Amino acid sequence: MVHIKNYINGELLEPASKKYLDNFDPSRGKVYSYIPDSDEQDVEKAVAAAKAAFPAWSITPKDQRSKYLLKIASLIGKNLDRLAQAESIDNGKPLKLAKTVDIPRAAANFHFYGTGILHYAAHAHSMEDTAINYTLRQPVGVAGCISPWNLPLYLFTWKIAPALAAGCTVVAKPSEVTPMTAYLLSELCIEAGLPAGVLNIVHGLGGKVGNAIVSHKEVPLISFTGGTKTGAHIASIAAPMFKKMSLELGGKNPNIIFADCDYDKMLATTLHSSFSNQGQICLCGSRIFVEKHLYDKFKKDFVEQTKKMVVGAPMDEKTRVGAVVSKPHMEKVLSYIELAQKEGGKILCGGKQVNVGGEFSEGYYIEPTIIEGLPHDCRTNQEEIFGPVVTIMPFEKEEEVLMWANSTVYGLASTVWTENLTRAHRVAQNIHAGIVWINCWLLRDLRTPFGGVKSSGVGREGGFEAIEFFTEPKNVCIKLK
Ligand code: NAD
Repeated sequence: MVHIKNYINGELLEPASKKYLDNFDPSRGKVYSYIPDSDEQDVEKAVAAAKAAFPAWSITPKDQRSKYLLKIASLIGKNLDRLAQAESIDNGKPLKLAKTVDIPRAAANFHFYGTGILHYAAHAHSMEDTAINYTLRQPVGVAGCISPWNLPLYLFTWKIAPALAAGCTVVAKPSEVTPMTAYLLSELCIEAGLPAGVLNIVHGLGGKVGNAIVSHKEVPLISFTGGTKTGAHIASIAAPMFKKMSLELGGKNPNIIFADCDYDKMLATTLHSSFSNQGQICLCGSRIFVEKHLYDKFKKDFVEQTKKMVVGAPMDEKTRVGAVVSKPHMEKVLSYIELAQKEGGKILCGGKQVNVGGEFSEGYYIEPTIIEGLPHDCRTNQEEIFGPVVTIMPFEKEEEVLMWANSTVYGLASTVWTENLTRAHRVAQNIHAGIVWINCWLLRDLRTPFGGVKSSGVGREGGFEAIEFFTEPKNVCIKLK
């Protein structure tokens, strides 16, 4: 079985402790590789390497930094099949999804920032004939990048690529639940000839490795994606140290369906926005509000289509819903289904663990689940479940549905279905969320600001927002007379 290694100062290294953690294949419920159980000593080494590499990397001309990023993008593309397979085994997601979404997007992240940095320009402010101000944007230093398990390589590279493009060096930690593609990425960075210490990847537990990165005094900037509770913990350490922080956290996204929508488009997309990646995308619409006179028709069709979704082994072409990521996560999702019933919810379909049989009989599979009959303010409708579970609710008035949609502590993404242009703009304006999709879902332009409001996070990723996050502005004022 593979023993994953840390990537520090350009080398693949064992953890200082020489200890390893089990890495599970969720589709089989079995250990299939080992993860370094790293600690502060490994983080110390990684930060020292990143610090030593910073002066040279930060003044490496943009077009040369760009070449490294583009080379990595191309290597990810060349290794698409191998990486997709690894992602699918590590995470439980359908291979098809890894092949068409996760890995192409990881390559796109490097490509986007490898070219984007060439076009970034800072500002100048003229004071007519008195003075001129120009703003230098200088890379902050060693960036700490911490990512979750749901879109492992996709979200890992979404942080690393802009950090490297901006001239920061990086100490990164992927989720201990899905470390494999980050390990394969370190091999590709070596192949690309990325200078030693520019990117360092330390594997291990959040409480040890993550904590050591966040609290390290030589890491002035933290880019974190993960749960809201972890984000609050990180902020409690990083804020008193006055670190720059970008926190991309949990969500409980509303999907608002008006009766005048393009019905077929809405139904097909709602199946995706509910159950893609087993509902484990922070942007999935888990609370579905449907205008009252469309409710019965929608309910019938949505349940019928959902029942047709094949739950099965990730490698199987027919599979639409693979395994959820881990046993504890499966148990958490099932406990929410139980809670929903206690709160008075009625299960319209799904609701149970599935045994898909054969070598996959120990895997962590859950039927796509639809629940109705719950009020907007019960726990099931307020807390993030992060699994293949949605609730459906009828509404009568726009004001009422906006109040329900905005009633959680979260504010990440939202979806609105209507053919009424005026209403679409009005609702978009009044939703408390960082992202509003009208008549679509997960349509991503990497230039747009990405992030949430309220407990869904602080700061924005994407486009030049990320370049600005990884750089510090310095104003230079020159008197002209
Ligand atoms: P998590 O918070 O448990 O872990 C995320 C990362 O933080 C992991 O690498 C983990 O090891 C690390 N970590 C844990 N404790 C830490 C600590 N004390 N100090 C530093 N690092 C620590 O989240 P998860 O379960 O991996 O991911 C699921 C969550 O991520 C969901 O809430 C989901 O909504 C959220 N998410 C948000 C976005 C977004 O863009 N807003 C995207 C994907 C996932």
